[in-house]
Amino acid sequence: MAFLHADDSTAVTADNWIHRPVLILNASFEALDEISADRAVVLLLSGAAEAIADRDPHFPIRSRQLEIALPETIRLLRYVYIEHRVLVHDESRATLAGVLRRDRHRCGYCAAWARTVDHIRPRSRGGPNTWSNLIACCGPCNSVKADRTPEEAGMRLLWVPKAPDHLAKRQRRIWKDLATA
Ligand SMILES: [Zn+2]
Repeated sequence: MAFLHADDSTAVTADNWIHRPVLILNASFEALDEISADRAVVLLLSGAAEAIADRDPHFPIRSRQLEIALPETIRLLRYVYIEHRVLVHDESRATLAGVLRRDRHRCGYCAAWARTVDHIRPRSRGGPNTWSNLIACCGPCNSVKADRTPEEAGMRLLWVPKAPDHLAKRQRRIWKDLATA
């Protein structure tokens, strides 16, 4: 799958660290998005961002000249103007790993263990890679549904997929830490 990412619950290794999600904050400490760790490291090395929190346990990333810790949260040093304050919403782009984590690997159609995701509105009909259009899905349900909508396939979603609220929670924790610093 094009947007295959390492599952965040597995151990960080030299092979998979670049796919780890890193929370990126605006200069104003507002949470903007989650980006992959390789992009976050580029922002740190170029001086565009600073590390706010390193990943626990510590994971060193070494280049020829220096060593930095794999970050968990970074902050842009220059404010980026964003029209919509909350960037992570139901129509935001989601990743395979993010959807599986949100749905705890439970199939949205039968609750069985799921290792892949389904486009509720099929990709062939313009269904986007968004939090509201992706749901964890087991192999059997995925083959039954195929290129159809749930209605056409006679399948029912067990819950309404939405953007996860963990970014909002982390944002609240950041505001709290700032207030008590
Ligand atoms: Zn299923």
